[in-house]
Amino acid sequence: MNQTQTKPNEQRTSYHAGGSNHNGHSSDKRDNRSSGGSSGNNRHNFKETKQFKNVLVTSNGTAHDNNATHGTSQNKKGHLRIIPLGGLGEIGRNMTAIEYEQDIIVIDCGLMFPKEDMYGIDSIIPNTKFLEENRERIKGMIITHGHEDHAGAIPFIAPKLRVPIYTAKLTAAMIVEKAKEYSLEDLQIKQIKDGDKIKLGAFEIEFVGLSHTIPDEMGLVIDTPIGRFVYIVDFKIDYRDPEQRPVMQRLRGISRTATRCLFLDSTNAEIEGQSVSEVTVKESIDSLIATAKGRVIVTSFASNISRIKAVIEAAKTYHKKVAIVGRSMIRNVAIAKEIGYLSIPDGVIIDIRNINSFPKEEAIILCTGSQGEEYAALVRMASGEHKQIKIEPGDTIVLSSSVVPGNERSVAETINNLFKEGAEVIYGGEKADIHASGHAKADELRLMMSMMSPEYFIPIHGEYRHLVRNAQLATSMGIDPKKIIVAENGEVVEFDKDKGELTNQKVPSGYVLVDGLGVGDVGNIVLRDRQAMAKDGIFVLILTVDHTTGKIVTSPDIISRGFVYMRAAEELIHGARNEVKRMFASHNEKYPLNWDYIKRAIRDELGEYLFNKTQRRPMVIPVIIEV
Ligand SMILES: [Zn+2]
Ligand SMILES: [Zn+2]
Repeated sequence: MNQTQTKPNEQRTSYHAGGSNHNGHSSDKRDNRSSGGSSGNNRHNFKETKQFKNVLVTSNGTAHDNNATHGTSQNKKGHLRIIPLGGLGEIGRNMTAIEYEQDIIVIDCGLMFPKEDMYGIDSIIPNTKFLEENRERIKGMIITHGHEDHAGAIPFIAPKLRVPIYTAKLTAAMIVEKAKEYSLEDLQIKQIKDGDKIKLGAFEIEFVGLSHTIPDEMGLVIDTPIGRFVYIVDFKIDYRDPEQRPVMQRLRGISRTATRCLFLDSTNAEIEGQSVSEVTVKESIDSLIATAKGRVIVTSFASNISRIKAVIEAAKTYHKKVAIVGRSMIRNVAIAKEIGYLSIPDGVIIDIRNINSFPKEEAIILCTGSQGEEYAALVRMASGEHKQIKIEPGDTIVLSSSVVPGNERSVAETINNLFKEGAEVIYGGEKADIHASGHAKADELRLMMSMMSPEYFIPIHGEYRHLVRNAQLATSMGIDPKKIIVAENGEVVEFDKDKGELTNQKVPSGYVLVDGLGVGDVGNIVLRDRQAMAKDGIFVLILTVDHTTGKIVTSPDIISRGFVYMRAAEELIHGARNEVKRMFASHNEKYPLNWDYIKRAIRDELGEYLFNKTQRRPMVIPVIIEV
């Protein structure tokens, strides 16, 4: 593993080292540029620099990276470049460009959900500056499957690129449905299916249907003038599923041609063994539904069509009724039904409003809320806020899902609330056989590596540690460590007919933040201000100054939110008011009428004063009004 390619010509700095500050942002100067001035102290800086090191926003609102070299538009003859734009070193916003001479293809266009302290941010999408600059050369975009981390950024990015999108039936239907929400009508979607081969410029691509937690997941076999590149993201090998057999046969056939490079899912590389089979999950859900004496409420990811199918089939077997609750679940069931991926027997589905007219032991509710999302159906039921469903003793609630990192607290709270209402709650995911991960574990990865026996290996889809673990697995499976390439977003990997290597070339790959209607207009500075306000509140001083004499006319006005309860802190406010008067007088004497300087000085000094009195650092905003 020591020789695995990471970064050439320089020592790789430890990416996850705490508090590293190597991108040169986060000085107080930057804070000062924020709209209303800022707290201007150092205490807030530690966490942000680490978390948001990838975000920079220029004055015109486009995000870009510090050390990226762009304009790398001309690729050399006979050279193939891999350009990862998202998904390496993170779970989410998967996007990779592959370029051979003049031709480019793009794989996936995903989003990532914001971290807890990214206040107000709806999602994070890849930076597509490189693609926008080379738009004419893009032959097509391929979407491997319909999950948000692979397809979720299409509404924001597709209008900028305007290239054909190749994807399978269900994914296509989901993209079209989502596009409607954004009033995008002219997406050029070209539907492909398992086994299809298409030619996009210098690339010939064969689609291979693989198992995952959503139907129509496609592995890509990409033939190029310098060899075969196999791209397998989100997949699992379901050993108990009879449908897995033809897939394995196909893969064996494909492996007869030498694989130059294998890209492989790293999500579960650190977990030994093999993933739980969907067949096992189906059996446990079936037996829970068969034996339940009261209502059964099942929650799952809204896109998990096979899980939804399992519940509906069990309902039919045991003559029960299913009510589906939650907008995204209803939408996905409608899509799957319409394209023939879900057949629903007559009379099984009922309207939630009629559920109470059926005996409790016949009622099944299939709903959203598996991640404890604030407005989701299960969460509202758990907190007693749901219109039709009140949780009561006798109910069995099944959380048929894993907990996405970051959601642990809200899921735990939902489970606690359900228990408080007297329900029995079954949770624990794979351990309880009520959920199966969609990502291959170490054994499945080993199998795929030995079957494809690639010359080069590039781990994809994972946090940095997942990529490293996957690289270690590859080493242990006999792949030459010098030909295992652990790259991060924006780092270009280059192949020619003789070799493949990680280069020093970089393309912009930082976060682009989506907030409401704004894409890319919220950056580090705005985020840091939001964090400062969220932590210690805001403290605004209004000084009314006579423009001829330069003297304060009235006592300064103070407005504060989220810092102290003003009425209970009269002494503090009174003291602050006197301090401000004193500060103003002394600075105005030194630098008369230099309002910028005086505001900055008051902000810093009053910030210190408030900190000494309260150990809190509200954002201090002095405003000077001349009369
Ligand atoms: Zn997926
Ligand atoms: Zn994924």
